Amino acid sequence: MKSRRERNSLPALIVHGGAWDIPAEMHDPSLAGCRQAASHAWELLTRGESALDAVETAVRILEDSPTFDAGRGSVLNARAEVELDAIIMDGRNLNLGAVMAVKRVRHPVTLARLVMMESEHNILVGPGAETFAVDHGLSLCRNGDLVVPRERERYRRGHASDGTTDNHDETPTRHNPTDTVGAVALDTEGHLAVATSTGGTLNKHPGRVGDSPLVGSGAYADDQAGAVSATGEGENLMRIVISKSVCEFLERGMTAQEAADSAISLLAQRTAGRGGVIVLDRQGNVGVAHNAPYLVFAQVTPGGSIISRISAVHHVQV
Ligand code: ASP
Repeated sequence: MKSRRERNSLPALIVHGGAWDIPAEMHDPSLAGCRQAASHAWELLTRGESALDAVETAVRILEDSPTFDAGRGSVLNARAEVELDAIIMDGRNLNLGAVMAVKRVRHPVTLARLVMMESEHNILVGPGAETFAVDHGLSLCRNGDLVVPRERERYRRGHASDGTTDNHDETPTRHNPTDTVGAVALDTEGHLAVATSTGGTLNKHPGRVGDSPLVGSGAYADDQAGAVSATGEGENLMRIVISKSVCEFLERGMTAQEAADSAISLLAQRTAGRGGVIVLDRQGNVGVAHNAPYLVFAQVTPGGSIISRISAVHHVQV
């Protein structure tokens, strides 16, 4: 009989909608969004489509949802604009594409995939990334098309003319993580892929880039180890290169859950940062860990059922 670590569970999928202090009114829409993304991506995987197609599809759905801090619905920066970052990575060959600080792209994950497939580069930023999008057949939207009333209102509360805010949570901060999204998949051929997409942090300085689109920080996929999407305080997550750290823990023989737990301990111990990770090892075993108050995610069981959950920690270690 195979041990727990050797069990193959192909295909496999997990998606997340961020690790943060998710307010009660966001619980249901966050769960529903993760379920919807997981269900579409799972359908592709069971038809034999690639892990790359599955993670791109899942993240596009989450970018379309106004609930999450990715694509439409993202938080606003200090200039009341949406600025988006995304990455996609192919575990077969370690190819990756990332875009940063784009303002007029509805699906940054698709642009990241185009950068990976159609350019000789790995990363494009800002206006150069948008020109590349147009040259490769993507149409640009207006920045205002990405802004939802909830975020306009939150910005307004955070920038009261007398300098006060009516809610502590709205206090302008550059380190306030929200509902970044990500997906990790293992396809029927045994290949891993990951994608992560975000609007970054509330009231960030224009041009600020967090961990999400940085290879090894917001995401990493390697068929020889595992695949990981991270979320949380980008400035701290990148200091321990959290997604690559998880993969190194897997290579040292940890289970997916042990590797996820160890990375979050490392984050807490070395940076006092808060965040979360979702992990698949190369057999399709799942790991989920966070020290931010909540992490919302949906995973598919080996039997094909979708489970969505808001995981809570009551004693946040910082
Ligand atoms: N990690 C993201 C960033 O720092 C935020 C998040 O995950 O919510 O941009």
